[in-house]
Amino acid sequence: MGFATPGDCVRIPEMNAMQLIAHGAPGKFELRDLPEPQPAPEEVVVQVQSCGLNHLDLWLEAAGLPMTVPLPRTPGGEVAGRILETGSAVTDWKPGDEVAVQSNLFCGACEPCQRGEESLCHRSVILGVQRDGGFAEKVVVPARALVRLPAGVDFDASAALTLAGSTAMHMLTKRAQVREGDWVLVIGGASGVGSAAIQIAKQLGARVISTGSTHAKRTLAHSLGAEFALDSNDGDWPGEVRTITNKRGVDVVVEHVGGEVLLKCFECLARGGTIVTCGATAGREIPFNLWPFFVKQHRLIGSYGRDRADTLTTLAWAATGKLKPVIDSVFPLGQVPEAFAKLRSRSVLGKVLIEPYVPASESD
Ligand SMILES: [Zn+2]
Repeated sequence: MGFATPGDCVRIPEMNAMQLIAHGAPGKFELRDLPEPQPAPEEVVVQVQSCGLNHLDLWLEAAGLPMTVPLPRTPGGEVAGRILETGSAVTDWKPGDEVAVQSNLFCGACEPCQRGEESLCHRSVILGVQRDGGFAEKVVVPARALVRLPAGVDFDASAALTLAGSTAMHMLTKRAQVREGDWVLVIGGASGVGSAAIQIAKQLGARVISTGSTHAKRTLAHSLGAEFALDSNDGDWPGEVRTITNKRGVDVVVEHVGGEVLLKCFECLARGGTIVTCGATAGREIPFNLWPFFVKQHRLIGSYGRDRADTLTTLAWAATGKLKPVIDSVFPLGQVPEAFAKLRSRSVLGKVLIEPYVPASESD
């Protein structure tokens, strides 16, 4: 160890991270120099190239999650980047590998994880909420959460699909199991989950109806494959769904808003139909009438996160063009607060991304 002289100091490598330092809507953020993260034996350091913003980040910002999150916290769960460094026990990955990160950091050892149902992990940790995430130049994650980026999927496409797209994949293929010929109603078709859900439902052979609050959102839903895009500001959009389906109703509703919207979805549902729901961004508690629910043999299914297989399928579909990212805008790390404000304004078409670290010398 050398001798420090006055004015001299030990140089610790640093990295920039945008940290939430006080909750609110808007919350208070600060771009901070933090010590470079070090990987534990089974972890890797990822140089973040792009990171998607999600409603989960807004919940974190506003202290709206049903858990206490100590601050400061670096948000950002939808990470795509390059491996910089691997922990001593990591053998499957090497520096330079291009990866996406599954944001529900599963343990890999509990009973559901052993079955490949990582979305049910007993010890799941949410990246960017319960540990520091990707609105930073670098992030440390467990190697088991890594997914190799397939050829043809760039960092932005990955950051736009890995969380939101796999959430929709889990909802439509695992939880609700959409079949060819089904009528599927996708609520909020211009959102990250909604824009993926429309495309997945179409690929599964379904006929898709969607909703959107603006002309631009409905135009986007059409362009992604929805045959009908209804104005969610028109209070009788469930009546329109029944008209379109000749009073029958839809087989599956993909719902991620909650509150009164979820109740209206029951009005759209065919006998024996299924609502699959996640997010509940507009309300978590609803009054519920059980009579029509059991008489019509409806099903309400919860969906949370994704399994590793859903993430792999999502990126494989992206590589073959079956699932296209819908990117609204890209912000640099210094403008994370502006990105949060944009998502909060509900004027977003598809995904908002953060590019935390793009070296000046990099031209691609
Ligand atoms: Zn587990």
